[in-house]
Amino acid sequence: MVTRADIGVIGGSGFYSLLDDAEQIELATPYGPPSDVVTVGRIGSRAVAFIPRHGRDHRFPPHRIPYRANLWALRSLGVRQVLAPSAVGSLRAEYGPGALVIPDQLVDRTSGRIQTYYDTDGAVHVSFADPYCPSGRAVAVRTARSGGWETVDGGTLVVIEGPRFSTRAESQWFAGNGWSIVGMTGFPEAVLARELALCYTSLSLVTDHDAGVEAGQGVTHDEVLEFFAQNVTRMRTLVAETVEALPEERTCPCGSALDGIKLPFELP
Ligand SMILES: [Zn+2]
Repeated sequence: MVTRADIGVIGGSGFYSLLDDAEQIELATPYGPPSDVVTVGRIGSRAVAFIPRHGRDHRFPPHRIPYRANLWALRSLGVRQVLAPSAVGSLRAEYGPGALVIPDQLVDRTSGRIQTYYDTDGAVHVSFADPYCPSGRAVAVRTARSGGWETVDGGTLVVIEGPRFSTRAESQWFAGNGWSIVGMTGFPEAVLARELALCYTSLSLVTDHDAGVEAGQGVTHDEVLEFFAQNVTRMRTLVAETVEALPEERTCPCGSALDGIKLPFELP
């Protein structure tokens, strides 16, 4: 029985069957319950905890996801490295459906989401200049390429508040700024991971062209879900292979994100 994990996966449905010796763990956190029970099990030699970001029945829209509870729950199980597969729209004609983007930058266009653990008893300012784990990114890019994915190494993910999709003007503005992909869940997930000194790597699967791209006609939620469902098996394989390739010992800067900072409480 596996009850601790060093790698966390926050993703859509379809990942449970990856895990051997899977154990369901119901967790409470100071931020309420996570999106769902956490499934802990093994992929090869690695212990992995899985949380379905929207809940198993997809009950949490992007702006209602309990992001703080999810990351806190993972850390309390021992997780130090997080993989975050998600569906995104492409802002560039050359990245079509099926492309995998491993972004290295992020723009926050959300509003009103709680984006910190440190909102009482003094301020904690973490560095977020490079929002993603360099080591997790490198492993993901290498693994995806060797698995035959059309892989984009780097790029900027703009996270919108949703749940609506972008207007054409917004989408053109994002693209005009040089940003690559647009999604609804990559923030505050990434910064909350940083605030807990976790490694965080986004595996962004392009499901469609966003409304402002010439080739794009705008999207419907059904189209996104259908495309994602068609690719679930591929994504599962990619996540499993990436999990196994992640380093056992961290040498990236993520684990030192809180060094020298006086925290108002102890991390789990
Ligand atoms: Zn890292």
